[in-house]
Amino acid sequence: MDILITELLEAPAIRRLGEKYEAVHDVTLWKDTGRLRQMIGQTRTIMIRNQTQITADLLGAAPNLIAIGRLGVGLDNIDVPAASKIGVVVIAPLDANATSVAELTIGFVVSLARKIPRADRSTKAGGWDRQGCTGIEVHGKTLSIFGFGRIGRLVAVRARAFGMRVLAYDPFVKADSPALAETGALLCSQFEEALAQADFVTAHSPLTPETRQMFNARAFALMKRGAFFINTSRGGIVDEASLLDALQRSHLGGAALDVRETEPPRTQSGFEAMENVILTPHIGSFSTEAQTRTFEAVAADIDRLLSGAPAINFVNFSQPRR
Ligand code: NAD
Repeated sequence: MDILITELLEAPAIRRLGEKYEAVHDVTLWKDTGRLRQMIGQTRTIMIRNQTQITADLLGAAPNLIAIGRLGVGLDNIDVPAASKIGVVVIAPLDANATSVAELTIGFVVSLARKIPRADRSTKAGGWDRQGCTGIEVHGKTLSIFGFGRIGRLVAVRARAFGMRVLAYDPFVKADSPALAETGALLCSQFEEALAQADFVTAHSPLTPETRQMFNARAFALMKRGAFFINTSRGGIVDEASLLDALQRSHLGGAALDVRETEPPRTQSGFEAMENVILTPHIGSFSTEAQTRTFEAVAADIDRLLSGAPAINFVNFSQPRR
């Protein structure tokens, strides 16, 4: 087998690959670790989104594998060092989604500020509650961006266009980084300071052992009363129980979560009943443009590698080393 696809991936680029190569597409395979382990042993490449967990153990059962194609950005579901160690190319088009995620984030900022979901729900229910839907302007407010990478920087530029003051917290960004001048963001070296100054907090860091639950009870307590929290990065960086508590106590003014600790969430969490909370099903990269860019880029690299040419959107090396 040339290509194993373990999640729902529907696109012209995937269909073209299926016509050219021997491909198996099983949209439930990511859930069935036993069968996945058996199937990965037979394939040269695997194409996944964010649900399939590519662990070192699974890679040990994949003697023929030369490449993993990740249709998306976060790499927390792939053990990249383990793949690199055995010479497997990891493909991920890291720029393909950034604009879409940044635009969704700005949508959340404005929706929370102007209570758009509440206004929508109450008007459709027959109400005309203008007083109850009184919001705030974002102009002049402070937006603190945690994780000043590709997406964080695009958010900064857009927020500045709305007249917001933008702070960036990122331990890996230096004070002389050109990205600060280019975006108009001010670097904030203290996590606590960036939280305390924010009217809006938005998270754009990867999920790592350091960032896991970095937004916890202590972090929410440091935020201003009435401030808003937005997460379009990874659910694991938030302690959801503490966020819910901060919202229920009205310490925070509202939240928007595109990503969750468990996806999809297995149980009702308490957020669903709250008018000042926006929940979306991990749609940051679900725009026509981002999906097309992502599918075309990964499919082209899988095609290249299967025909002996180097990949372009690799995160470790361009050709297999096994
Ligand atoms: P990126 O690698 O370009 O930027 C991430 C930034 O986070 C880097 O600048 C890094 O230095 C910084 N960082 C690392 N550790 C940090 C810490 N402890 N505190 C603060 N910052 C820290 O990544 P990106 O392309 O901008 O993506 C950002 C996040 O968005 C990732 O978690 C990715 O998984 C997620 N994402 C979500 C969606 C979605 O559909 N919602 C789509 C694409 C990406």
